Amino acid sequence: MSQEPNVVDAAIIGAGFSGLYAIKRLRDAGFSVQAFEAGDGIGGTWYWNHYPGARVDLECWDYSYSFSPELQDEWDWSHRYPTAQELMRYLEHVADRFKLREHIQFNTRVDAAEFIEAENLWLLRTSDGKTLKARFVVPATGGLSVPKPPEIPGIETFAGEAYHTGRWPRQEPAYEGKRIGVIGTGSSGVQVIHTLAGKCKHLTVFQRTAVFVVPAKNHPLTPEMRQRVRATYAERRNLSRITRFGIPAPMPTESALEATPEERQAKFENAWVNSQLLGFRQCFGDILSNAEANELVAEFIRGKIREIVKDPATAQKLLPYGFPFGTKRPCLSDNYYSVYNRDDVSLVDLKSTPIVRIVPEGIETTEGLIELDMLIYATGYDALTGALTHIDVRGVGGRKLNDKWTDGAKAYLGLMTAGFPNLFTVTGPGSPGPLANMSMGIEQHVDWITQCMEYLRDHGIARIDADPAAEDAWMQHVQEVVSRTLYEKANSWYRGANVPGKPQLFLPYLGGHGNYRRKCDDVAAAGYQGFALTRRARAGQPVADLAGSAA
Ligand code: NAP
Repeated sequence: MSQEPNVVDAAIIGAGFSGLYAIKRLRDAGFSVQAFEAGDGIGGTWYWNHYPGARVDLECWDYSYSFSPELQDEWDWSHRYPTAQELMRYLEHVADRFKLREHIQFNTRVDAAEFIEAENLWLLRTSDGKTLKARFVVPATGGLSVPKPPEIPGIETFAGEAYHTGRWPRQEPAYEGKRIGVIGTGSSGVQVIHTLAGKCKHLTVFQRTAVFVVPAKNHPLTPEMRQRVRATYAERRNLSRITRFGIPAPMPTESALEATPEERQAKFENAWVNSQLLGFRQCFGDILSNAEANELVAEFIRGKIREIVKDPATAQKLLPYGFPFGTKRPCLSDNYYSVYNRDDVSLVDLKSTPIVRIVPEGIETTEGLIELDMLIYATGYDALTGALTHIDVRGVGGRKLNDKWTDGAKAYLGLMTAGFPNLFTVTGPGSPGPLANMSMGIEQHVDWITQCMEYLRDHGIARIDADPAAEDAWMQHVQEVVSRTLYEKANSWYRGANVPGKPQLFLPYLGGHGNYRRKCDDVAAAGYQGFALTRRARAGQPVADLAGSAA
């Protein structure tokens, strides 16, 4: 489409799941594309999160691209939940198979992006000191890309090795014979802990909030298992496109409170034995909306913890309280609780024994010094917005995105934020994002963006921007849906509560992947309702503003 030198149709930021698919879809639709990737390889989240035990927590059949039946047929997953390394190999295969690498400039960060109104172009500045103009920008930067350090005094004084799970070194550190401390017990911490227990001299876990961990039941896949899924893959994907979580499992409507204690026990036991990430939430329709129903699940899992962990005092510290089950992402592990039965693993409950400071020798708590050779920060991310707000993004009138989002991020349908035309966010604030199958959400967004850009090209439209009123209404709707659930009761990263000083607003859309997909399709079918479209100026003619035709 673009005829001008040094101007591309689309600048794509990131070469993970969403960046790769954006390159493929937009290039195949005839757009010129240039992608930038900060790392020296493909993979995004899976490139950076190379820590011991890193695995996906959705089944590989669902957490993978659906756009190519050939790709589905030829790729053999080794396990139900593949490792980060295997996911990277898969993404590298995708990049090679579809010839995507030639569009990616590695080892390059986008530092700034500024909208030049007179030209309807974005000017990007990159870390190699160069600039590029682009008609559209697609930040495919992921929701969990900017690590959050622990806010603990003395962190810089530690004399041993220190790593954040979200920036794991390419060269695997040695663990044998070392005294290792892990701060954080979210999904990353749990995976590190169950993997390193027994592989080092001593593992000390610093836990601020106990989490719900359910069995992973991970296992190798046989050719027969793969064949079974392949035989019904198309149906599986089609069903996933209409369900709440973007996986092939519709939600039940029955209330946990209407079932008999025996029925509940049977369902919960079944969810524990045949576990998967959403298993307990799919036992009954009100687990995430009714506190009493939720507490039944929570207490069932606490019972399992008491059974597994032999020392009652340790078990007590591991019992999750203070937030409803499922409102912080539950973790999967086949041996998390049993590692606390080992002599070479100890648990420090930071609620009763807070950290005073980090010192060169280790961690000083209110009960004394714990000497360490290695510290692992599994302390999470500046999630959902961090990757974009770390870029100096300036929209109409030079307004900074950071200023616009001072009181919380806003975006219409999670696709565009008003005042920043021609910039599409993939799985952005206000979309289901991490609360549905991310790979399904990424494909849906990139497909929508591609079709939108084709529409603009076909209709001679130079600029699209979200209407501020439509954006406000959508974000209100996002909040209204959250208020009908228990998610409001957790200080989770979904609302920015994990980062001190970050504005707190619940950002993922909880209306469900299927409903959301329909809404996005309806908006497009109505001529981009809620967006303002501006025609390309022709010689001698004024530029015409068009409201999205049904707006
Ligand atoms: P997280 O869920 O935000 O957990 C961070 C942990 O660090 C929490 O236990 C937190 O305690 C603790 N923490 C943070 N700052 C601390 C401090 N200053 N002192 C002590 N403890 C501190 O981060 P994550 O484990 O990296 O996971 C983030 C998300 O990534 C997950 O929810 C999931 O969506 C995704 N993920 C997925 C997988 C998978 O697919 N298997 C694996 C890893 C991550 P508080 O709870 O008290 O704040």
